[in-house]
Amino acid sequence: MRIGIIGAGQLGQMLGHAAADLGMQCTFVDPSEAPPAASCGDVIQAPFDDATALAKLARASDVVTYEFENVSVEALQEIRDRVPVYPPPSALRHAQDRLAEKLLFQSLGIPLPGFHPVDSREDLDAAVAAIGLPMVVKTRRFGYDGKGQVVVRNGSELDAAWQTLGDVPLIAEAWVEFDFEVSAIGARNTAGQISSYPLTRNHHEDGILRTSQAPYDNEALQDRADSYLRSLLQKLDYVGVLALELFVAGDALLANEFAPRVHNSGHWTIEGASPSQFTAHLLAISGADLATPEMRGFAGMLNLIGEIPDAARSLPAGSLHDYGKEARAGRKLGHITVVAASAAERDARLASIEQIVSKFNV
Ligand code: AMP
Repeated sequence: MRIGIIGAGQLGQMLGHAAADLGMQCTFVDPSEAPPAASCGDVIQAPFDDATALAKLARASDVVTYEFENVSVEALQEIRDRVPVYPPPSALRHAQDRLAEKLLFQSLGIPLPGFHPVDSREDLDAAVAAIGLPMVVKTRRFGYDGKGQVVVRNGSELDAAWQTLGDVPLIAEAWVEFDFEVSAIGARNTAGQISSYPLTRNHHEDGILRTSQAPYDNEALQDRADSYLRSLLQKLDYVGVLALELFVAGDALLANEFAPRVHNSGHWTIEGASPSQFTAHLLAISGADLATPEMRGFAGMLNLIGEIPDAARSLPAGSLHDYGKEARAGRKLGHITVVAASAAERDARLASIEQIVSKFNV
């Protein structure tokens, strides 16, 4: 089976490793000189929406997928009659626009924070009246890792928020005093079979994921998250892995956003579960059966951001993944996974690794 992947970053690299284990060949499209996935297959060096490059990718592949969200939906539609493209471009269209995404959650009865579309300075006042303060104003499109977001705590900050973000369509969301964040990761294959992982508990700093722990054992939350995930997968006639990010606030479980792709909060599945999210994605899009993932223990993942310190290379416990990217402040360069026999042991190991590497994470 030949897999075409748009994007050759670290997610492409980890998909590439999983593909090799399954005996699949990968071809990538990516504009970078030496992207992380270059070691996993041929790279067509071109912009992600380059029609000629995508046509070439379609010819070289039995199925095409993508590893990040800023792919042009129209460019994907173009190659769709030549090769299956999964996840379906309509899912990507919803994920690319926070308003469409929230309306989708709403139509499925998935609880979410109050929101209000903002296209003018007056709309910001209307948003305050509708959802109250504090609120977070986000760009509707092209936001990631907390970029394109401003928190407004009182009315005097509205003008500044408008100055910062106002030249593109926006959405205001009620600020959620959440206890913590979780993600529900699952897959659906071409036959409609669904499998899902145990809930992952996530910790973000400055909008960037720092650590994940799984499983987050809570049957009631797990059931609710699974039902939301299932309804999304079915509604979108989805094929592949999808990650749904949620806030846990008291008894409430509120959807934040979904990613139509393998996800950073599922990296622990490489060592911590079988199949990994990368293998599950490939099985789903290639029409294979989806087995229920088996846990290999209690898993934790720590992102390496800005720099990979030498100490991270000689840890007594933990699997280091170095994406081979050039160091830059705020950039995800790698991650470390631990798998332990108990949650307490996992958390202790994660904490000691965090201490070793945290002073380098900038
Ligand atoms: P996002 O890009 O929407 O996933 O936002 C990045 C991170 O900012 C989230 O993972 C949360 O930690 C935080 N955040 C986003 N929206 C809200 C909200 N409505 N209330 C509280 N925190 C938020």
